[in-house]
Amino acid sequence: MKTRFLLIVSFLFLSMSVTFFILGQDILALKHSSEVAMNTIETLQQENEEIQHTLVDLEKEKADLITEMEKLTKEKAELEDKVNDLSSQKTETADVQKKTNAEKQTEADKKSKKIAYLTFDDGPSKNTEKILGILREKNVKATFFVNGYPSKKDLYKQIVNDGHTLGNHTYSHNYSKVYSSVDEFFKDMNKLNDFLEEVTGVRPSIVRFPGGSNNTISHQYGGTKIMNKIVSKVVESGYQYFDWNVSSRDAEKRTQDKNVIIHSVLEGAKYKNKAVILLHDLDPKTTTVEALPEIIDELTKQGFVFDALDENSYAPHFL
Ligand SMILES: [Zn+2]
Repeated sequence: MKTRFLLIVSFLFLSMSVTFFILGQDILALKHSSEVAMNTIETLQQENEEIQHTLVDLEKEKADLITEMEKLTKEKAELEDKVNDLSSQKTETADVQKKTNAEKQTEADKKSKKIAYLTFDDGPSKNTEKILGILREKNVKATFFVNGYPSKKDLYKQIVNDGHTLGNHTYSHNYSKVYSSVDEFFKDMNKLNDFLEEVTGVRPSIVRFPGGSNNTISHQYGGTKIMNKIVSKVVESGYQYFDWNVSSRDAEKRTQDKNVIIHSVLEGAKYKNKAVILLHDLDPKTTTVEALPEIIDELTKQGFVFDALDENSYAPHFL
C-alpha cells in the first residue's frame, strides 16, 4: 500500500515536473518572440523615419523641378517671341526686297519705254476745255505750262482735277518784264506759283521759259547773258526746267494748218524714245485742238505711252 502511494506521488511529481518544464520552455519562447517583435517594431520605426526623410527630400526635389519648369516655360515663351519677331523681320525684309525689285523694274521700264509728253503752253484759253475733253476721252495725261489769268480759276482747277501737271510759264509772259533782270523773272514766276497754289493747292516745281531757255529776244531787255543767269538761279532754287525736242510748229502762224501740226509732231517723234512735244493752248490755236486726236492715235501706233512731266522726267535743255 505504501509502495503504491509512493509510486502515485512519484508519478504526480514527475508529471508536474514535466508540465513545469514544458511551461518554462513556452515562457522562454514567448519572451524570445516578444523581443523579436520589439526589434521588428524598432526596425519598422527606423524605416518609417527614413521614408519620411525621403518624402521630404522628394517634396523638395518636386518644388525645385516645378521652379525649373516655370523658368523653362518662361524662356520658351521668350524664345517664341524672338522667333516671331525674327520671322516678321524676315517678312518685312522680303517685302522691302520685293518693293525694291518692283521699283527697279518700274525705273527700267520707264527708261526703255517710249514716252510722249504733250505740253501745252500759254493757257488757259477758250480751247482748254476741248483739250481736256480729248485727253479725258483718250485717257492721256499731259502738262500745261500756264500763265496767270485770275478770271480762269476754274480751268486751272480742272487741269489739276483731271490729273494733269501744272508748270510755271511766268505770270505775265511779258518778255520786256520777265527778262529785264533775274529778280524781275523770279518776282513774276513766284507771283504765278503763289496764284496757282492759292487756286489749286498745287505749287509747280517745273518751269518753261517763255521763248525757251535759248531765246535771244531776252537779250534786248536783260543783256546777252540774262538767260544764263536766270537758268542758273532757277536750277539752284530747286526747279527743273523743260525745253522741248519735238515742235508742232503751231506757233509759226496765228492758226497753223492742221496737217502741218500732225506731220511735224509725228516726224519729230519718230526716232525718239522720249518726246517732249511743244503745243499751244491759246484762243487762235483751234487747229492744235483738231490735230490732237490724230496725234495721240498715231503716236500710240508708234509705240508711245503718254505721261505728264514731273521734276524727274527726261528734260531737254537748249541751255
Ligand atoms: Zn509761251
